Amino acid sequence: MIHLDANGSTAMLPEVLEAMLPWLRDGHANPSGAYASARAARQAIETARQQVASWIGADPDEIVFTSGGTESANTALRAMDRLVGQGSAVITAIEHSAVLRAAEELQRPVKHAPVHPDGRLDLDRFAALLPGAALASVMAANNETGVIQPLAEAASMARERGIPIHSDAVQLAGKAELNVRRLGVDFLSISAHKFHGPKGIGALYIRRGIRFSPWLVGGTQENARRAGTENLPGIVGLGKAASLLMARGSGHSDLRAHRDLFEERLLRNLDGVTVNGSTQHRLPNTSHLSFAGCEAVDLIQLLDQAGIECSAGSACMAGKIRPSHVQLAMGFDGPRGRSSLRFSFSILNSREEAMRAADLVTAAVLRLRTGNAGIAPTSCGILRG
Ligand code: PLP
Repeated sequence: MIHLDANGSTAMLPEVLEAMLPWLRDGHANPSGAYASARAARQAIETARQQVASWIGADPDEIVFTSGGTESANTALRAMDRLVGQGSAVITAIEHSAVLRAAEELQRPVKHAPVHPDGRLDLDRFAALLPGAALASVMAANNETGVIQPLAEAASMARERGIPIHSDAVQLAGKAELNVRRLGVDFLSISAHKFHGPKGIGALYIRRGIRFSPWLVGGTQENARRAGTENLPGIVGLGKAASLLMARGSGHSDLRAHRDLFEERLLRNLDGVTVNGSTQHRLPNTSHLSFAGCEAVDLIQLLDQAGIECSAGSACMAGKIRPSHVQLAMGFDGPRGRSSLRFSFSILNSREEAMRAADLVTAAVLRLRTGNAGIAPTSCGILRG
């Protein structure tokens, strides 16, 4: 199988697994305990906190471990909601459901800032929504298109008005430079399984000095900011993944080269392929493409059989394939939305895989276009990560 669904999830790096194994095997002590093995567990947590903090340019006391991106985003939005006065929540129209749904739960109106057709936030329209806003959330990079958002600019606009801002950086982390101070955000969410760490663990950056109120209450873990006995192996794995990615640097020239090779080869092989979203402001790993004359669900089925794992950009709702909210926000028409696929590479994909994938996708598209695919009529059974 060639896994081209890294925006959905990534394989753990072997070093991450090795770092976690001793804690899975023998790390049963509760890190809050008062004995030597508990102190060792606590020390491992603090080492991981240091690793994550230095990777994203924060201080260790600004990092709270959570169960992943969804919990981090929910925590940030609820904390802001509880501590700010009246006013709307301004989020982008292309947020992941973790933010979209969390915003809907708040006891305040939610305003969605539109994006340009290239998938980037329209900063003028964002600025126009800020008067009357009490909190904001702007994702760092979109999970479907890979388009990198003008987050530093948006954060600066919010800051000027004293509006706290969260960013869902789940897709940016591990694929491009991420520095919380340079971005100027108050809260930022990351998730380990998107950058070769384990699933079910993430972190929330909480800028020192910003007001905070915990979502999960109970014990005093995480400096009373997130109650519950810590996921020690997960935290160790997250810290290790962060330190390994920090050592690799944020240039990701190989990753970009593989994605570009795949895309160029496909565009050479086939007519009627559109690259969706800004190519200038794009994660180095993501290729979001529409294939004229094809239904993404059929293509995914053929590619699965051919050994390629990727994801459809459309969503299946009530038995019908519909463009996703991201595609709608970018102004896609139905056919373009229904024919689009997301290919997302990781640092574990090789150059050979990129070339082979381009050839297999070419073959699958040609089969569909010539009516030669021999597959059952379109059925809903797909979803993106
Ligand atoms: N935000 C974005 C942009 C994502 O892509 C995802 C995962 O798909 C999440 C949040 C949710 O993260 P997690 O799976 O860690 O809860």
